[in-house]
Amino acid sequence: MAAEAQLRADIVEVGRRMYARGYTASNDGNISVRLDAARLLMTPKSVCKGFMTPEMMCVTDLDGRKLAGDRDPSSEMQMHLEVYRQRPDVHAVVHAHPPVATGFAVAGIPLDRAVLAEVVTTLGSVPIAEYATPSTRELPEAVRRYVKAHDGMLLANHGALTLGADVYAAYYKMETIEHFARISLVARLLGGERLLSRDEVLRLQGLRGMYGIAAPAPICAEPVGQDPADCQAVQAPVSPGGERLVSENEEVRLTYRELTALIEDAVRNLK
Ligand SMILES: [Zn+2]
Repeated sequence: MAAEAQLRADIVEVGRRMYARGYTASNDGNISVRLDAARLLMTPKSVCKGFMTPEMMCVTDLDGRKLAGDRDPSSEMQMHLEVYRQRPDVHAVVHAHPPVATGFAVAGIPLDRAVLAEVVTTLGSVPIAEYATPSTRELPEAVRRYVKAHDGMLLANHGALTLGADVYAAYYKMETIEHFARISLVARLLGGERLLSRDEVLRLQGLRGMYGIAAPAPICAEPVGQDPADCQAVQAPVSPGGERLVSENEEVRLTYRELTALIEDAVRNLK
């Protein structure tokens, strides 16, 4: 494991990049890394992540007790502790409020459509953890449902959370989520995404092994009824003609509620 001084410097650098890219405003966001088997380095509360210095970091144990540092650890520390409890393979956690991804989280729209090959192979899907009051025990509980199978998720009406084998890996996943959110937004403004077909998604999943991409869970391209703790649910339509891209408007997909509303409307017009 890297020396403590290097890990402190890495957290400062990632905080600077997050603030420079507008992923956090004011004192938002937090970053942590595993220092060794029993200790974490954690950003302190009430500091702007763009202007941190290495000596500001707190050292805590895995239950959140402060072992060293002049400042108190982040108010979202419990969410980080939950991730480390659930994921022994994770060595760093990044939380921020990147505006486009957070917009999806506020609108209640998960980033789970199969659209970009690199997102399918790396993150799979980006689900939304249910709304929880920040800094309370609710937030780690909301995250727990998704964290075993996902390296990145949105937090409803709040922001995004990413995990990785080191702090840069976790940070780059935050970049990927925000980039993916921006592309998805533009595609929807332009009339909607064409989706990767289910066969293509399964082919991309096969590439994970070839490129040594460590994913915590397989993709489930047929997501109905799947538990988000077991797999990464991705929307990828079956393409009967074998096309690799499927336009959404080629097929009309209605939920039961939408169908019921249409029928009710048609019956009303008959009267
Ligand atoms: Zn937050």
